[in-house]
Amino acid sequence: MSDPKYLTGDKAAINGFIDRFDVFLFDCDGVIWSGDHVFEGVPETLELLRSKGKKIVFVTNNSTKSREEYLKKFKGLGIPSTVEEIFGSAYSSAIYISRILKLQAPKNKVFIIGEAGIEHELRSENIPFIGGTDPAFRRDITEQDRQGLADGSLLDPDVGCVLAGLDLHINYLKLAHALQYLRRGAVFLATNTDSTFPSHHTVFPGAGSISAPLAYMTGREPLALGKPSQAMMDAVEGKFRLDRARTCMVGDRLNTDIKFGVEGRLGGTLAVLTGVSKRADWEAEDAVAVPAFYVDKLSDLRAVEL
Ligand code: PLP
Ligand code: CA
Repeated sequence: MSDPKYLTGDKAAINGFIDRFDVFLFDCDGVIWSGDHVFEGVPETLELLRSKGKKIVFVTNNSTKSREEYLKKFKGLGIPSTVEEIFGSAYSSAIYISRILKLQAPKNKVFIIGEAGIEHELRSENIPFIGGTDPAFRRDITEQDRQGLADGSLLDPDVGCVLAGLDLHINYLKLAHALQYLRRGAVFLATNTDSTFPSHHTVFPGAGSISAPLAYMTGREPLALGKPSQAMMDAVEGKFRLDRARTCMVGDRLNTDIKFGVEGRLGGTLAVLTGVSKRADWEAEDAVAVPAFYVDKLSDLRAVEL
């Protein structure tokens, strides 16, 4: 594999890079923003790409927000966008369930472990669900729960799928319900399997750390709908009908973003060094994926107009 090309400060190389692609898939956290802080020059960089006729899609693994909520975040950060450009793992889970899994009634309900973003997206695809943010599941397990789970009287017979994403209220009661549904043959999905995510200069448990105990309990692995899963790439391709050879994935993380682009056989991948992965990560012998290009920060692409 050839070494990644460093684009920062090289105007001719940046021009050549931009010309190679019609579509740019952007990871969000670590590239566009860090938490609630937008990186300097990013709105202008996106504007530059748009002015050159490039299609932009935001592809994020964070399932806690729906596309509508992301749109508000984009607006608040001064980045013009539309719902159609936003592709989160909650949305990709919803369209996978409705358009590929096509659960048939009566077993068409989803048991959600996760936050409101997942509920919003399932609702937008008319997928019935239980669990999620329902306060009935946000409490300690009781002896009555144990009895009802054991004899099945507490279980909803219509549940045909368990979908696990980041859940800030994960508890034993939810895990016990999910275990029973999975034992009864429910399809096992995860919005994404990030072990952790960066925040406040450290890392916090990610969605993969919520689904991992369920995988351990059942001996089953979930199908993940976030990067690097190619189920997400197929969903993105299905929606935008992109030409993979003329598409570039831009991201900060080798094991999600860059792997996603490489395994999806996209025309290119661009690593941005404002997030999780560093140069040493792809220079390591056991690198999980190697980008084709890299820049110190996304706004370095603006060199062509400055
Ligand atoms: N999951 C959660 C819960 C997050 O908060 C984040 C980043 O903030 C991510 C995943 C990673 O998101 P992205 O794919 O945009 O880097
Ligand atoms: Ca990221």
